[in-house]
Amino acid sequence: QTNNRRPIVAGNWKMNGNLALIKQVEELFSDADISHVDVVVCPPFPYLGGFNDSNFALGGQNISHYESGAHTGETAVSMLKEMNCQYVILGHSERRADNNESNELVADKVELALAHKLIPLFCIGEPEDIRESGQLFDFIAAQIDAVINKVGIAAFNDIVIAYEPIWAIGTGKTASPEQAQEVHAFIRQHLAKQDSNIANQCVILYGGSVKGSNAVELFSQPDVDGGLIGGASLNPEDFLSICLAA
Ligand code: PGA
Repeated sequence: QTNNRRPIVAGNWKMNGNLALIKQVEELFSDADISHVDVVVCPPFPYLGGFNDSNFALGGQNISHYESGAHTGETAVSMLKEMNCQYVILGHSERRADNNESNELVADKVELALAHKLIPLFCIGEPEDIRESGQLFDFIAAQIDAVINKVGIAAFNDIVIAYEPIWAIGTGKTASPEQAQEVHAFIRQHLAKQDSNIANQCVILYGGSVKGSNAVELFSQPDVDGGLIGGASLNPEDFLSICLAA
């Protein structure tokens, strides 16, 4: 089956970066031909307003599951829209761990983002012990099913999935291209049980220690449609080379 999935490379700055980095990235990318790929930068919230003439899209790293109100320290989905975000990272493993975000809470946030026409970069991925104990596919399926149960399979027309094995995040221990492909193919088959067209067009990114030096190999896998990039997105040259590899 052919596909016309357009690749996406998203940089997740996490709690890093500053105004100087915005300037460096904007300058470097302004001369780059990235027309074959949708590039997204997800800076910390205060910096969203610091981007001026970028030729890439912006994304947030999280939203509140509330729409507004007395929730000190939280950021509403409508605020991301107003600050020109097109994407939002949801369910990142660091938030699942640090903030006890459950599959159900992540599903609520996906629903809210979709209602506001933000594209969720919906993150899933297993810890190492789950993989070693043979529960990898059940674990991934449960993460996906929580969202399907909430928003329905058709919503996956507008959802980007990011598969990020936790043991590969920030560790330098990238999944091998074969390991990534195996899980990406499983994810696509899992979606196809509900709707094969949606499964075929859904963009599935890989994340976890992607660098300029391993991006080509990872992105050449048939079911890997781009990447969610943490550490390497803080180095503009490295991030650009990853974008060009997509
Ligand atoms: P990393 O992070 O590229 O630094 O491993 C990826 C992520 O957490 O999105």
